[in-house]
Amino acid sequence: MTTFVTRSQWGARAPRSVSNNITPQNGGVTVHYVGAGNVARPNHADCAAQVRGIQNYHMDTNGWSDIAYTHMVCQHDYIFVARGPHVRTAANGTTSGNQNWYAVCALVGAADSLTEGLTTAIKSAISSLRSGGNAADPINGHRDHLATSCPGDPLYAKVQDGSLNPDGTPGPPPWPGVYFTYPPTFHHPAVATWQQQMTAIGYPLSADAAYGPASKEACLSFQHAEGLTEDGIVGPATWNATFAQQALSTQ
Ligand SMILES: [Zn+2]
Ligand SMILES: [Zn+2]
Repeated sequence: MTTFVTRSQWGARAPRSVSNNITPQNGGVTVHYVGAGNVARPNHADCAAQVRGIQNYHMDTNGWSDIAYTHMVCQHDYIFVARGPHVRTAANGTTSGNQNWYAVCALVGAADSLTEGLTTAIKSAISSLRSGGNAADPINGHRDHLATSCPGDPLYAKVQDGSLNPDGTPGPPPWPGVYFTYPPTFHHPAVATWQQQMTAIGYPLSADAAYGPASKEACLSFQHAEGLTEDGIVGPATWNATFAQQALSTQ
């Protein structure tokens, strides 16, 4: 049973400014970790101080208005409310990432084991951002927005296999509502999500969020193999067919 820790309970400083310019109904929730090594605190009594330290670093060293994330979660099944719902984050590394995605950060590093409490807390955080923060269903990792090791391979594997989905079933992510065409006219994190899925089902692509010539060629091959209209454009039919492949292979 996840416990929420309010900002006043963990001793947060007041933010310098708050922006409500976020549209998570167009994105979802991005999962992060703190970084390399062993950073998880064995004793929960030490977790609040760790969160305060991260806030101090973001405000004093990075010069940001507040701790960068929406929520911090620890291995002991606690959620430390950071910026909270309806507040723009500074964590996802791109303008579209911060515009459309909440940021949930696990208080672990690459060398820490992932406890059941951590997984439960992440799911609880995502669930609350869906119900009380207008977040769309997709869940991704920081590395889906730009080149970074975050959230680490073990946690990213959980992002991909659906085990952080609070509904319990991975399910295909909904079509993002934009057509991917070549030449690309935009970068969109959903393009990277699609590129990853294509890679997972045997059409290797770099997840750069730009719909380049290789993406179009892979799309045409996939459409041919699946008997879809061969137009090289990812619309709802091709998107859903792409993610239906994962459903088949993981059942
Ligand atoms: Zn990150
Ligand atoms: Zn803890």
